[in-house]
Amino acid sequence: MRVLVTGAAGFLGSHLCDRLLDEGHSVVGMDNFITGSRENLAHLAGEERFLFIRHDVSNFIFVPGKLDAVMHFASPASPNPHSPFGYVNLPIQTMKAGALGTHNTLGVAKAHNARFLLASTSEIYGDPLEHPQTEGYWGHVDPIGERSVYDEAKRFAEALTMAYHRFHGIDTRIVRIFNTYGPRMHTDDGRVVPNFLMQALRGQPLTVYGDGQQTRSFCYVDDLIEGIYRLLLSDEHRPVNVGNPDEITILEFAETINQISGNQGIAFHPMQRGDGDPQRRQPDISRARELLGWLPVVGLREGIRKTIPYFEEKLSLLHENRIKDPSSGRPGTGS
Ligand code: NAD
Ligand code: UDP
Repeated sequence: MRVLVTGAAGFLGSHLCDRLLDEGHSVVGMDNFITGSRENLAHLAGEERFLFIRHDVSNFIFVPGKLDAVMHFASPASPNPHSPFGYVNLPIQTMKAGALGTHNTLGVAKAHNARFLLASTSEIYGDPLEHPQTEGYWGHVDPIGERSVYDEAKRFAEALTMAYHRFHGIDTRIVRIFNTYGPRMHTDDGRVVPNFLMQALRGQPLTVYGDGQQTRSFCYVDDLIEGIYRLLLSDEHRPVNVGNPDEITILEFAETINQISGNQGIAFHPMQRGDGDPQRRQPDISRARELLGWLPVVGLREGIRKTIPYFEEKLSLLHENRIKDPSSGRPGTGS
């Protein structure tokens, strides 16, 4: 296949490009670097089956040559209001990537008669009243809250994807991604994994927001990409949750990171996101298991150990002043 991946310079997009190339496909990567990094694609320099186009997906997209699949991953993705990469600080760009970007990428799929896969999110469930979250749950989302720029854009994106499927017969997929971590995450986007790992490696106390009793379920990136690749090859048009169902409180997560890294100390901070921070999040992955035969296989401790060398390398580059410390001076972003 020849596959267009938007958001290719991001954390997930770059891993997806690698996987597609490993499977023998050709990839057109697209990104405008608003939250992504050239470094994430540097290893693909000279790869003949990889073409990069710098472009904002909110504008009309033209891709020369044939395309067999379009995978729309372009969107800011961090909820942290203290990070310049957080969608709260990129509200219009986030809504445009989810709304106009989805419209444009669906248009590309239609023009090329290509299959389409939307990167949706567990955030479409909002602060869920049903637990664990099945794909049948409609969600509990504040339409005007701070997180709404992301949540509602993704909900619109899902609705538009289904409209193109029903009205135009486009061969669509929707993956609802739950919290994922691994190498190539931003060190500074304020999400909990980079924050805790950077703090732990610096020997600082980990910043737990609130009482730390809110839960998340963390999936290692390789497991996620496997699930997404299987979904791409499937015939499933309904949304599919992909994530790791092992639920953990943020406080337990902080203790685990300290244990693995040999760090000490937890600093409790006020909740950073008002009422918008979901209390519980855990995917029900029955659909993915039954339809795709998919299950995550990397446990949390193993995944964190696989991720630490990447953050160590970033930290040593910061120490050598080879990259600017973007977190200096801002609270709760690893500084
Ligand atoms: P990321 O910020 O690392 O990657 C997003 C990429 O999209 C960046 O490279 C950014 O520059 C690019 N981008 C944003 N707006 C763009 C635009 N208008 N035009 C072109 N490129 C643009 O984030 P990520 O964690 O890799 O997330 C990728 C996708 O997966 C997003 O759609 C996100 O909503 C979804 N997702 C991620 C997670 C997670 O845990 N990482 C969870 C749920 C959903
Ligand atoms: N969190 C925390 N300390 C941090 C960063 C995040 O306690 O330094 C909490 C945050 O309040 C949330 C959870 O960790 O409850 C996950 O946050 P993240 O930003 O990773 O993404 P979310 O799952 O909220 O989209």
